[in-house]
Amino acid sequence: MNNEMKLEFDAVSENEGFARVAVAAFITPLDPTLEEVADIKTAVSEAVTNAIIHGYAGWSGDEPGKVEVRCCLRGDVLHIEIEDKGRGIADVEQAMEPLFTTRPDMDRSGMGFAFMEAFMDDLDVTSEPGRGTLVKMEK
Ligand code: ATP
Ligand code: MG
Repeated sequence: MNNEMKLEFDAVSENEGFARVAVAAFITPLDPTLEEVADIKTAVSEAVTNAIIHGYAGWSGDEPGKVEVRCCLRGDVLHIEIEDKGRGIADVEQAMEPLFTTRPDMDRSGMGFAFMEAFMDDLDVTSEPGRGTLVKMEK
């Protein structure tokens, strides 16, 4: 089956659950296992949370920043992209190391990327400081 969807929403924490449930609903016609749904929801949740709390931390624009979630189903493969236009990541390799966090003060454990990597089959992160971050995942 081939299918596509795109969501754009304000970068506020209330929308993290919305994004997670929307992606879960999108994949329902594929008859995923409970484990597959849980893995995908966790990965989406981690990436969207990062966009909100890191991408737009200290955001001073008049309007809230936006997060975009795109899902593309090609046969059996689900591609998910989560994009923000926030502050970006200076060193992506370092950011992806387990336990690395720039926000220990916020009780962050630095495990978000590690979870995405563990729960998805493929993870690719591109980012430019000052321009934003694009997380691509596949399952
Ligand atoms: P946890 O996810 O365990 O709560 P964390 O968010 O700090 O902690 P990761 O999700 O692995 O850990 O992210 C590691 C670091 O990468 C973050 O601390 C942050 O500095 C940076 N980062 C991740 N996503 C973004 C983003 N969308 N925009 C800017 N920086 C990001
Ligand atoms: Mg995180």
